[in-house]
Amino acid sequence: MGRGELEELVVSLGEPKYRASQIFKALHQRRRRSFDEITDLPKSFREILAQRAEVSRLTVESRYVSTDGTRRYLMKTADGKPVETVYIPTEGRDTICFSSQSGCPLKCDFCLTAKLGLLKNLSVGEIVEQIIIVLNDVYGAGAETPHGTNLVGMGAGEPFLNFENLIDALRLMADESGLFIVPDRVTVSTAGIVPKIHDLANLHDRPHLAISLSAANDELRNKLMPINKRWDLDELMKVAREFEKSLRRGERFTFEYVMLGGVNDSAKDADQLADLLEMYRIRRVKVNLIPHNGAEQLDYAASTPEQVRQFKDILESRGVSAYVRTPRGRDIYAACGQLAAKAGA
Ligand code: SF4
Repeated sequence: MGRGELEELVVSLGEPKYRASQIFKALHQRRRRSFDEITDLPKSFREILAQRAEVSRLTVESRYVSTDGTRRYLMKTADGKPVETVYIPTEGRDTICFSSQSGCPLKCDFCLTAKLGLLKNLSVGEIVEQIIIVLNDVYGAGAETPHGTNLVGMGAGEPFLNFENLIDALRLMADESGLFIVPDRVTVSTAGIVPKIHDLANLHDRPHLAISLSAANDELRNKLMPINKRWDLDELMKVAREFEKSLRRGERFTFEYVMLGGVNDSAKDADQLADLLEMYRIRRVKVNLIPHNGAEQLDYAASTPEQVRQFKDILESRGVSAYVRTPRGRDIYAACGQLAAKAGA
């Protein structure tokens, strides 16, 4: 619930409006997980609330900790659908990778989540609660949200097919009296839902954008990411160029490029990508190269480190900023494209 809805609830229960602020702070800032823990409310009111409302809709089914500190959480919604969330510690900051859908309707050929199909769109609460559960696990309930917490909407699902809930959840999490994770600390990744990229460009409080590209020609992208048959590279590049105009000072957006051995990682592929950016005059972008993490159920292998380096060098020689993302949590199946893999180590 947003603040307005909470106010309506407390007033409908005969309590003054300020109780809504107390509840909001307790649930979001102090990350309490039951009404009983909100001890600044009268006990009788807590009991009424517990009869009328629920704080939690997710339960943690299992939790895996990687040798590199990454944590992977398999959660379940109250209606029994799986949700995956990953915590990635790096020096001086934490990143939480959250899911926006249970399963995913898109059929990216290199992704295990695709095998599940769409199970459901997650509600605003189910999105926010993933972050609360992870922060409580890492820091304990009640501790302030660490200042350097970043969010990435790159877990299971296509966030822009659940756009309204996603944006409402991000607004709730940005609230100063709540988690206070501002949009500047959030990046959302799309497989290329063109109309929603357009909508995002027009939001004043939007997060950063990443577009999963993974191929620089339609033939290959149709195969790897069938969403390309709905919105092809021409439409995607045009909306990316439009999005570029909405960038704030010093901001860039990202193209994610999953590197698949022998499929999209040749020198020709790198040149084609640089040509594409040149043709559409897209400049304020960086390319994240993500070596594929492999999984028994998928037919793809990771690119060799030499291929990755050559690809990066070619992009850079053509004036494109390129970075190689270090895979995290591979041993617990927490890395990109691995969510929905078997239970893990
Ligand atoms: S890569 Fe992302 S958009 Fe594509 S099928 Fe997997 S979860 Fe869905």
